[in-house]
Amino acid sequence: MAEFNTKVLIIGSGPAGYTAGIYAARAGLNPVLVAGPQIGGQLTITTDVENFPGFPQPVNGGELMLKMKEQAEKIGVRIVEDTITEIDLSKSPFYCSSENSHVFTGQTIIISTGASARWLGLKNEEKFRGFGVSACATCDGFFYRNRDVAVIGGGNSAVEEALYLTNFANTVTLVHRRDQLRADKTMQERLFNNKKVIVEWDSVVEDIIGSDNPRGVTALKLKNVKTDTMKTINIDGVFIAIGHHPNTDLFKGQLDLDSEGYIITKPDSCQTSVPGIFAAGDVQNAKFRQAVVAAGSGCMAALEAERYLSRL
Ligand code: NDP
Repeated sequence: MAEFNTKVLIIGSGPAGYTAGIYAARAGLNPVLVAGPQIGGQLTITTDVENFPGFPQPVNGGELMLKMKEQAEKIGVRIVEDTITEIDLSKSPFYCSSENSHVFTGQTIIISTGASARWLGLKNEEKFRGFGVSACATCDGFFYRNRDVAVIGGGNSAVEEALYLTNFANTVTLVHRRDQLRADKTMQERLFNNKKVIVEWDSVVEDIIGSDNPRGVTALKLKNVKTDTMKTINIDGVFIAIGHHPNTDLFKGQLDLDSEGYIITKPDSCQTSVPGIFAAGDVQNAKFRQAVVAAGSGCMAALEAERYLSRL
């Protein structure tokens, strides 16, 4: 068990966390960053990133996060690979303890715990998770070479996952509950121009069907919400891409959260309802959810933490 006492404690290692760390370190605040369960955050499970400035060629999400980590470490951020499990924001210095039984105290905390993939909530979805049900095409797509797969959702994630899967799969069926996609127009064009893609419009998944021996998904039962008709499509894998929820369970009852659980911050600020506690990235921003926005808000949080400390 170790004890870490710091002026700026950063929780989370996505673009917001690393950027906050870089700014806090350059301000001489010797920040400590606790990486959390998914080091590098959501970008580590994405494919090519084409919209992060500075990369004229697409950069792999995992690679981009490794570069951010390397930059943060080089500049003096102390990165601890651990997960905070308990937190007390009632008095300063704020106290946290972790999965590995370490204790962390911070005069300020920057929360950048991000958001996680949402699931449909079907019984068989859980049963077959890792056996044909996935939320990460980059992680699992490789296993579906020449197989038939489905992707659920109509946003950029669903379209990106579907396009990625066409690199391996025989067919990719996109199942969307409406008759229009939410994804960007350019992404939609790429999808519709791909001959491996089939779209099931106005459809929801009623059930995921699978076998126990060998354990695996074999089909999807779909319901057309306009005609109420049922249809079964044979597939070997299904990728759920229906959005995210914020990772804020730890802060319930201690910080003001909105109705969806995102941390509320003051307008044009990363300041939460507790002075000295700042939130940056997807955990306080359900609207944009972009790496570059998260990085920008990480910078804001660090600058605000610095000003808060100098006022103390
Ligand atoms: P979104 O919230 O944008 O889309 C979620 C999709 O899932 C919607 O089409 C929604 O349907 C559908 N959905 C939600 N709940 C259910 C459910 N219970 N059953 C069936 N379908 C459901 O999430 P994304 O993860 O796609 O994207 C999040 C953010 O990240 C967006 O801002 C997006 O632009 C961004 N992003 C950007 C990328 C890029 O630029 N390369 C790549 C990936 C994401 P409906 O449309 O009917 O609401």
